[in-house]
Amino acid sequence: MNGHLSPERTAFHLKPARCAGSARQKLTDYVVQIAKDSLLPFDVVVMEMVQWPACIDGLDATRRPFASGQHLALANAHGETAKYWVQRLTDLTGQTDLEALTLLPFAGVLRDPFGLVGHGRRWCPVCLQDDLLAGAEIYERLIWSIRLVERCPIHDVPLTSECPNCQYRHCNETCRRSISGHCARCHYWLGASLSCYRRSLHCRRRNSSRQKWLANEFASLLDVPDTTLIKMSQENAVLMLESGIDRLAGGSAKRFASECGKSPSSLSEWRAGLVIPSIQTILDICEKFQIRLVDWLCANSDAWPVDPERRKHTHGYSPRRTAYLERDWSSIERKLRTVADSDRCTLSWKQTAENLGIDPSQLHAKFPELAGKISRKAREHRTRDSVNRREARRTVLLGKLKQIVRKMLVAGIDPTRRHVEAELTKHGIEYRWADYPLIAQARHEVDRAIPYISAPSRYSSSQRSSPGHMETKG
Ligand SMILES: [Zn+2]
Ligand SMILES: [Zn+2]
Repeated sequence: MNGHLSPERTAFHLKPARCAGSARQKLTDYVVQIAKDSLLPFDVVVMEMVQWPACIDGLDATRRPFASGQHLALANAHGETAKYWVQRLTDLTGQTDLEALTLLPFAGVLRDPFGLVGHGRRWCPVCLQDDLLAGAEIYERLIWSIRLVERCPIHDVPLTSECPNCQYRHCNETCRRSISGHCARCHYWLGASLSCYRRSLHCRRRNSSRQKWLANEFASLLDVPDTTLIKMSQENAVLMLESGIDRLAGGSAKRFASECGKSPSSLSEWRAGLVIPSIQTILDICEKFQIRLVDWLCANSDAWPVDPERRKHTHGYSPRRTAYLERDWSSIERKLRTVADSDRCTLSWKQTAENLGIDPSQLHAKFPELAGKISRKAREHRTRDSVNRREARRTVLLGKLKQIVRKMLVAGIDPTRRHVEAELTKHGIEYRWADYPLIAQARHEVDRAIPYISAPSRYSSSQRSSPGHMETKG
């Protein structure tokens, strides 16, 4: 009786293969799985159900998902595209935890979704093989999408994007006929055992310690429980910098910047919240001081290394540090405000801070706005001052030059630059090449004042300017 019935339809695998921890599935792979289970090509699902691009303001509605140059991996990141895909897929599937398949839960601490996920599709063949051998669901991991992760944190082998069968490089996150764990072009199985895969890598050995470290840091970031995740924020980066300045450099931002290998101006921009340090910068500092990324993002100030050498160094500064903690900040703020509002604000920020007996960088971190105002006023004052001084010097020098030129002309000596220079040196007057136009100006002005000394005498050599010659001009 059952012979003529159509076979039972494959059940939809609406639950993601894994939606927590470092081995969580990526959102694009989840859509690949839905497509496969519903016996639809992946591109049909994307074009008809999810749509591309996200239909929100600011995105060009004419772009097609599989046209060249599209960045489909953004669906796995933490920007607007990822938000749109999650929302659309939540409506389609009724699954409420799909955000976890993207980097959206980490949006508060990660920046630059474009830079964070790579364009291409990458995988660890050993992880895929393990899934197959364990009879588990075959799926692709979110961590493989992160551009900075180049190795598998579990197997410590490099991720690959090349099919072992047809050598096709998967330069795009997905393609029209994607199938999890299989080549997009020849559909060959992409998994391999650890020994097989290692053998195929023999000629591509590279220094892997940094890559290994990065892979582990991102894996532990994806592993953090929700209770820790809510403690992470971008403001923590500033707290962490402050505690680093305090612990490593005894409160000196300049020394801390040089220890980190970063410029003091970048550091001050991060501290003032004008610029948020990129994840790459944070990782650089973390690696340098062997701080866990998670500790940094949670602002765990105890993560800074306690080096006996450094502690000794820091100890010398401790009285100031204690003072820093016990200061009457409201009265200091009042004083700073008076300085900033006064018209006679001429001291630089450094001098102002030193007058108050506080490290300039610490004070800057406390009152960035006032610091900006005072620095600006001091700068304006300095500029005014230097213009006035330059003007005064010019006037004095011009007077001297006119004197010299007049004397020379009267004595019948041609006031060439060389002669005037020699005269200036004799009088011990300092001059530089920028003053040369003044010599010409002095000659011009003297010429106008005493026109009776005619031009020919000045162009004759000093030998020819005899007294008789002078008489003819008189
Ligand atoms: Zn692996
Ligand atoms: Zn292939």
